[in-house]
Amino acid sequence: MNKLVEKLIEVGCKITNPRLAVLKYLSVHHSPISARDLHKKIKAFDRASVYRTLNLFEELHLLNVEVIEKEKLYCFAEEPHHHIICKKCGYTEKTKCNHDFGTFKNFNDVYHQLTLTGVCNNCSK
Ligand SMILES: [Zn+2]
Ligand SMILES: [Zn+2]
Ligand SMILES: [Zn+2]
Repeated sequence: MNKLVEKLIEVGCKITNPRLAVLKYLSVHHSPISARDLHKKIKAFDRASVYRTLNLFEELHLLNVEVIEKEKLYCFAEEPHHHIICKKCGYTEKTKCNHDFGTFKNFNDVYHQLTLTGVCNNCSK
């Protein structure tokens, strides 16, 4: 959390209340969340400032972004990782990304997205 605040200051971003609230929420909850749901959770700010904050963090590469059913979901990108999501209840776990894309000499800005789905132990009881 402090590291993230430092990083924002480092790149010349002002620490505003919506930015702090988004940082705080995402550093405590790891499940990927959409801008809409995040806005519902931290209520205090208008939706536009939550969206702007997420866009800014995305540009700064602070966030891991994946698109599921046409909705962008965000979580912190402490390290390259993927998620496995329970199809029935939405329970989510994180798994380390071991993909190595260092071999594409003809591409820059290589981006990949992978979401695993399954049925969690709770739901398959
Ligand atoms: Zn994540
Ligand atoms: Zn489940
Ligand atoms: Zn990967």
